[in-house]
Amino acid sequence: MTNSMIHPFTPADEEEKLAYELWTRIALDAITERSSDIHFEPFRFESHIRYRVDGVLQVISRQTNDSLQALLRVIKKSAGMNPDGSDIPQTGKILFSSDKTGGGEKTWDIRLSTFPTIFGEKLVCRVLDPGSGASVLKGDLSLLGLEGRDLELITGIINKPYGMVAFCGPTGSGKTSTVYAALSLLAKQTENRCHIVTLEEPVEFTIDGVVQSNVDSEGDFNYYRALKALMRQDPDIIFLAGVPDRDTASMALQAALTGHLIMLQLNSSDTAYAIHSMFEMGMEPYLVSMCIEGIISQRLFRKICPDCKQKVSISREVIDRIREDVENPDSVTHVWRGAGCEKCRGTGYRGRMAVYEILPGTVEIREFIAKKPGLAEMREKFKSLGYPTLRKAAIKKALNGETTLEEAIRCACV
Ligand SMILES: [Zn+2]
Repeated sequence: MTNSMIHPFTPADEEEKLAYELWTRIALDAITERSSDIHFEPFRFESHIRYRVDGVLQVISRQTNDSLQALLRVIKKSAGMNPDGSDIPQTGKILFSSDKTGGGEKTWDIRLSTFPTIFGEKLVCRVLDPGSGASVLKGDLSLLGLEGRDLELITGIINKPYGMVAFCGPTGSGKTSTVYAALSLLAKQTENRCHIVTLEEPVEFTIDGVVQSNVDSEGDFNYYRALKALMRQDPDIIFLAGVPDRDTASMALQAALTGHLIMLQLNSSDTAYAIHSMFEMGMEPYLVSMCIEGIISQRLFRKICPDCKQKVSISREVIDRIREDVENPDSVTHVWRGAGCEKCRGTGYRGRMAVYEILPGTVEIREFIAKKPGLAEMREKFKSLGYPTLRKAAIKKALNGETTLEEAIRCACV
């Protein structure tokens, strides 16, 4: 296995050499298992190493607290971080290359962050898969799970010449992938005639034809200063990965009203909450109503493992619980589940897919937003307009056999 790091690492002694070998085995195993994060956590009696696969954490190894701290010391050293600084949070980066996962040599970008706890230091490694980036960067929105009316709606929204578009969902809901796919599509469609700029913290993948910039919310080059400087260069499309304060929100709104397409990423749970948070950020409802082109909320659900997928009958009580969210509830006779097999580590799930709730900025929706409606009132209104809610869309995926009903209800919980 070849294994290159940004900071070349030479173990100082036998103990460090063994710890370093253990780290490369853990990283390779995590990658093979398609993990998005690796967690190293000290507790009172022992430490755990956990992988997050398809959004769910699983303990894969237990260590003594001393051996975990020795391992973390070596990982930090190999990332060029201060190996002894265990009482302040640190961040670092490792480029991990391997040819052991099939398809030739590949490089993974591993982002590290430490956190001091009462039983020692904790480390989380985010594993950025170059493969998943490549599929998103093709600019094909259907690869994200978008189809039919949803695909038409989102394509219409991102192709508006100016205005504001919000991409929402909690952390880990896949919204950055949607934004990256949308920006890749716009860069391709406009054949580089369009000036597209992103402000991110940090940039996850590079997009051809898009100018990307790393901002630092706590430093001098924060979102506000970056956006202010950028406006002098007259960009056509701006993606703001975060809106940290009222000043940035107000400048973004002004930009959207003056001929720029502003894409915002918000951590709001659904479309109604996204509009509510815009009001909370000090954006005037009548100005939001003037420039809002669409709000896209999403979640990731786990797909049923194709190797152990089976039909199960559905009870009357369960049908009654989903009655409101299904078109012909009485015709539903069964759903699907994964029985659990070797390929899915007994979980019954393999891989993930997104589910969307998309609200276009129609005249009716704009007029409604201008009245500064409350959160509950907005949810009722949007439901009444017939746009599928996250719950409805997720249950549809379950009835189509793409996921289980439990997973659909869990992931669409607002
Ligand atoms: Zn399986």
